[in-house]
Amino acid sequence: MDPVTQLLEDVLADVRGEDAGAVADYIPELARADASRLALAVTGPAGGTIAVGDADAEFSIQSISKPFVFALVLDALGRDEVLRHVGVEPSGEPFNAISLEESTGRPANPLINAGAIAVTGLVPGTDLEERSARIVAGLSAFAGRSLTVDEDVYASESATGERNRALAHLLRSYDILHGDPHVSVEAYFRQCATLVTVTDVSVMAGTLAFGGRNPVTGEKVISARTARDVVSLMTSCGMYDGSGSWLLRVGLPAKSGVSGGILALAPSQFGVAVMSPRLDVHGNSTRGRLVLERLSDELGMHVFDQH
Ligand code: GLU
Repeated sequence: MDPVTQLLEDVLADVRGEDAGAVADYIPELARADASRLALAVTGPAGGTIAVGDADAEFSIQSISKPFVFALVLDALGRDEVLRHVGVEPSGEPFNAISLEESTGRPANPLINAGAIAVTGLVPGTDLEERSARIVAGLSAFAGRSLTVDEDVYASESATGERNRALAHLLRSYDILHGDPHVSVEAYFRQCATLVTVTDVSVMAGTLAFGGRNPVTGEKVISARTARDVVSLMTSCGMYDGSGSWLLRVGLPAKSGVSGGILALAPSQFGVAVMSPRLDVHGNSTRGRLVLERLSDELGMHVFDQH
């Protein structure tokens, strides 16, 4: 076995017995996840990906979609226009907080639900179908293959998503969302229900790590400036209200999702993805955090490591 594969296998073996945390159950379909699943993938600059564990297992991307949809609208509309609708400050609050600027209604950042719904509202498209198709096509370009939506997860999120729906209506009342808030929030639910594997997420992370160019397909998906903006945002806001301790312990820009995935990257070096469904109190995968902490230490990848 080559040394990188060996390292990844060793890291997984070390955390496999850890069973702290709980699978998200506020979306009923997510509660059905197999909690024992564990997978890890790393993608290098030439597009080669090494994946270990349950690497073929698909899961819904959830909040890991947020930096990518933010990237797509940043690239399409420009920074100034996007920042009129959403801030870039850590909220220090949970993912579903009603974290809106008092006078303008601008959500704190695009990586919490309020901000993500505002960003999804900026994706062009007059109806749900058109907007959702654009988002899935955009996520697919980052992953380098055609992704699909898990209709059961979508239906489950939509059936229980009253809080997100309320956020969308609040955003509409401030004119942060334009048009029918229903279209934006349903497109957001579909975005979160997009199915991926750790290999997909690792390639997506690689696309951000290598200046917006997908290392597998060679496609320039977003500009290098946009990639830099998104990676900066992930560094301060990517791990919900656990972002500060994440930066201290792991030191890699990252984004987690409630189905147990975590995306991380080392700029210009690699993209990485891990998936394990049990979450800590902040909604971040418990074993996922251990895996990335260990990898960051072993490889000396903390962004503030000083050599
Ligand atoms: N679809 C989920 C929600 O809006 C995403 C949450 C997450 O992954 O943080 O509740």
